Amino acid sequence: MLRSTLLYLSRQPQLRRWMETSPLAKPLTRRFVAGQSLERAVEASRRINAQGIEVSLDHLGENVQSMAEAAASRDQALRALRAIEQQQLRATISVKVTQLGLDLGDAVCRENVEAIVREAARIGTRIEFDMESSAYVDRTLAIVESMHQRYGCVRAVIQAYLKRSGRDVDRLCGAGIPVRLCKGAYDEPEEVAFREKTAVDENYLRLANVLLEKGVDPALATHDEKMLTAAEGAEPQRFEVQMLYGVRRDLQQRIVAAGRRLRVYLPYGDAWYPYFMRRLAERPANLWFVMRSVFGN
Ligand SMILES: Cc1cc2nc3c(=O)[nH]c(=O)nc-3n(C[C@H](O)[C@H](O)[C@H](O)COP(=O)(O)OP(=O)(O)OC[C@H]3O[C@@H](n4cnc5c(N)ncnc54)[C@H](O)[C@@H]3O)c2cc1C
Repeated sequence: MLRSTLLYLSRQPQLRRWMETSPLAKPLTRRFVAGQSLERAVEASRRINAQGIEVSLDHLGENVQSMAEAAASRDQALRALRAIEQQQLRATISVKVTQLGLDLGDAVCRENVEAIVREAARIGTRIEFDMESSAYVDRTLAIVESMHQRYGCVRAVIQAYLKRSGRDVDRLCGAGIPVRLCKGAYDEPEEVAFREKTAVDENYLRLANVLLEKGVDPALATHDEKMLTAAEGAEPQRFEVQMLYGVRRDLQQRIVAAGRRLRVYLPYGDAWYPYFMRRLAERPANLWFVMRSVFGN
């Protein structure tokens, strides 16, 4: 109930505008967002890389409404790639297709995507395509598959809460496309998604096993230690664990100490509201944490 309410609020544009321009933005978001600028994100990446952890830079943004905004998102991604090259960061970048104009049409989005993927191929890193709500899955995977054929340097995201995901994982493994497996962060109807946590967890473990057996460089994105049991006994270089910036730092340290590969997903920028609300929805106890950081102990 609280989860659905928070996810509903995450989609309200007026509330979003008000929150993102509020003086409370900085104290509210500090826990989950590395900063507003690329420079702050680069500083955080250097610190994280120094601990033996890789990064995926995410310039926050989704569902842009104009060509100009889509082009600005593309340019932000290109700036991030330049920073990775110049600063020799051990980092990929993560993008959302609706940030690059998918709501404005496939052609404009593909053009923006291709500019980024081409540059990633040139500098030798990878573009990870976040997965958004179920309405976008087919078009997102079609874009990832065609970019994989042309450039190779991409990773798809699969959400274990979707009932279709077993078929998608089989197809992506068959095509040799790397996959990041997560549970799924949106409010999806029963027709397309498992609504019970136990069913989502069971599907996650099932899909993780398939990826560990047949996948190319799979990534298990989760803060749930039970999900990571799927990888017990797997060769540590065979896969990577991915976790969100600011979440379960204790577990992040243990993963690195155990000699496993870890990548931290590092969001930055002004358009933080929907991302932030999804983090609250995942763990409503975060509401208290956030209130404490805004109003003091
Ligand atoms: C690297 C990465 C990339 C992701 N990319 C996508 C994507 O592209 N599309 C998408 O739909 N979803 C994405 N997600 C989000 C994901 O789908 C889940 O919503 C989120 O990870 C919570 O699920 P969980 O696996 O951590 O398990 P849960 O069962 O939700 O949580 C397990 C435990 O982890 C801790 N935890 C989980 N979330 C939080 C939080 N926000 N704050 C504090 N503690 C927390 C708590 O201790 C909780 O008990 C991504 C997640 C990660 C880690």
